Amino acid sequence: MTIPKSAIFADLHIHSNYCGNLSKKGDVLKLAGLAGKKGLGLLGTGDLTNRRWREILYSETCESDGLQWAEGRSGPARGSPPTADEFPFVLSMEVCCSDKSHHVVLIPDRDCAKTLFSKLAKVGKIEKMGRPFLHFGSRALLETCLGTDKKIEVIPAHVWTPHFGMFGEGVHYGSLEEAFGDLAGRIHAVETGLSSDPEMNRRMAFLNARTIVSFSDAHSHSLARLGREATAMKKVKSYSGVISQIRKNSILGTVEVFPAFGKYHLDGHRNCGVSLAPADSLKTGNLCPECSKRLTLGVEHRIEELQSRAAGRTKKPYVTTLPIPEIVSAALGVGAGTAKAERIQEKFISAFGSELSALLFAPEEELARVDPAVGRAIAACRRGKVAIDAGYDSVYGKVKFVS
Ligand SMILES: [Zn+2]
Ligand SMILES: [Zn+2]
Ligand SMILES: [Zn+2]
Repeated sequence: MTIPKSAIFADLHIHSNYCGNLSKKGDVLKLAGLAGKKGLGLLGTGDLTNRRWREILYSETCESDGLQWAEGRSGPARGSPPTADEFPFVLSMEVCCSDKSHHVVLIPDRDCAKTLFSKLAKVGKIEKMGRPFLHFGSRALLETCLGTDKKIEVIPAHVWTPHFGMFGEGVHYGSLEEAFGDLAGRIHAVETGLSSDPEMNRRMAFLNARTIVSFSDAHSHSLARLGREATAMKKVKSYSGVISQIRKNSILGTVEVFPAFGKYHLDGHRNCGVSLAPADSLKTGNLCPECSKRLTLGVEHRIEELQSRAAGRTKKPYVTTLPIPEIVSAALGVGAGTAKAERIQEKFISAFGSELSALLFAPEEELARVDPAVGRAIAACRRGKVAIDAGYDSVYGKVKFVS
């Protein structure tokens, strides 16, 4: 099973550039342009409670069937159906509940956002924040959302990360029921986060009936971050089209980074330079051999604690890859953030139309024609021929290719 070429790729968990004071007109178009280069066909707006970002977003998009369409060259075509050069956004945000769980919230339309925010304003300072802290727990959030509009979708975010992931070491819920009680059945999907993949999540029987989605959690509007993880969907023209795929688990698959690349894969202490596999942490009672304090326990550790069966049987196809600058960095030994890495990324984008189409679909011999070493490394990625010094305690994994 593979992801069909007809799929669109959705990244519904991103953040705006507006948590601080920055805000410029024209940024919605810029963001849509970046998404196009990445190969995404649908973006979450992120940070919708932030008033500044919301004002810009609403002035630069048009709402149609619950999706926000970024203007084409001629400006928003008010009242008329979206055209081919317009780009769709889903109204979205991430919130932090008082139990420290992060959740992505998808909102059906602007009117609904207004009603929801009038309720959330009573439990948190929401207008200036990108990811507001709410003085109530996960169940209360879900109850408030469903009480506002049943089409609002709450998706627990990066569920295994040690800080703020609901199953992670810090928050430590052992199931959806523990967090959402009688409303757990209204949670249809969970987000894997970078340090886990669908197979790892399928080791949890309690996630059996759920859709496993992947998004980037990009904190900047940059090509390096947007869409590094994404969910493949059938093309949509409406908000209902998005959530029905999530609710019925009819998504077409996901794009993942290698879980070891994620910042919280193994256990460890960043400052002590200590990284340990779960079995080794257990031998020291989960204490750091350098400073004797409790280790930051990673995703692998929590999955092993909670898993209910050994082998994961994934239900949806997924592709494991890496952003092109990371591949360039490992293949050529230049920094991922350097101008050279970006130049090579641009070459692949212009050759194949987008980064994801180069990574996922381009024939290997054509990849090699753009850049032989990087082309070979992309092919190695597809075959999983990658060795990674795994990430831990907010240190990203380091990638090496094995041919
Ligand atoms: Zn988060
Ligand atoms: Zn986030
Ligand atoms: Zn330590």
